[in-house]
Amino acid sequence: MRIKSIFALLLTFIFLQGCATDNESNSAEEVNGQASQEQTESNNHSELEKQDREEEEQAEGMNEEEEETQSAAGSQEAESKEVEKQYQINENTWTVDPISDANPKVALLTIDDAPDAHALKMAQTLKKLDVKAIFFVNGHLINSPEKEDVIKEIYDLGFAIGNHTYGHNNLKDLSEEEQKQEIVKVNDMVEEITGERPRFFRAPFGSNTDYSKKVAAEENMTIMNWTYGYDWEQEYQTKEAIADIMVNSPYLNNGANLLMHDRQWTMEAMEDIVTGLQAKGYIIADPETIK
Ligand SMILES: [Zn+2]
Repeated sequence: MRIKSIFALLLTFIFLQGCATDNESNSAEEVNGQASQEQTESNNHSELEKQDREEEEQAEGMNEEEEETQSAAGSQEAESKEVEKQYQINENTWTVDPISDANPKVALLTIDDAPDAHALKMAQTLKKLDVKAIFFVNGHLINSPEKEDVIKEIYDLGFAIGNHTYGHNNLKDLSEEEQKQEIVKVNDMVEEITGERPRFFRAPFGSNTDYSKKVAAEENMTIMNWTYGYDWEQEYQTKEAIADIMVNSPYLNNGANLLMHDRQWTMEAMEDIVTGLQAKGYIIADPETIK
């Protein structure tokens, strides 16, 4: 008699478990069903890449202890990241303005179109110089486990990972739904890698729309364009030329928001740019202190 009721209880439990699992997988399918063909393809693609990566890690028998230690340190850093906000981005000039009595003679370093080939080296150089920066990343460039590792390493070195959209398209050419995808997808990717969603957004070509501003606000991101940059122009594509103009630009003023890219000449000039700005009395802004 007793055994029978225990058996009945067990059956009920198994049945309920089954229902719960069904519900979960149904809602997941619904979400996928709404997604366009292209998204589904790229989702599958990244799913495959993830699998590949897991297999690779298993095959290599990576030293897991070291990995765990690293990620523990990373999350500790994330917890202690609540820093007092001393600056805000001026939405008319894109300068970094002091909120109260913060030092106004400040310059913000930003590196766009990362991670290409030089972002990690740039981060290591900046770390060595003990200054901070924002790396604005594009989702389409985070296309391999190695690139994911680069993002994680840059983040663990203490840099902000900003959102520069998935495909680097002009948002003005896209539908609202496409704009949303371009923005939110990158936040999802970065959160998956670092555990933290980007706090800063920069539209490709500085081309914001009313709708993209709304999405950025919903995602709790601060929007910023920049005040000056030169490294995409032919005449500044050497270490010496870019180092000189970034420090001696007529646009260098309090709160300058410096646009640079993941490019070789900019990487090579990075140290001279930082020390040049400091020699002129500028402090390099810590993105953590920007609202
Ligand atoms: Zn860009």
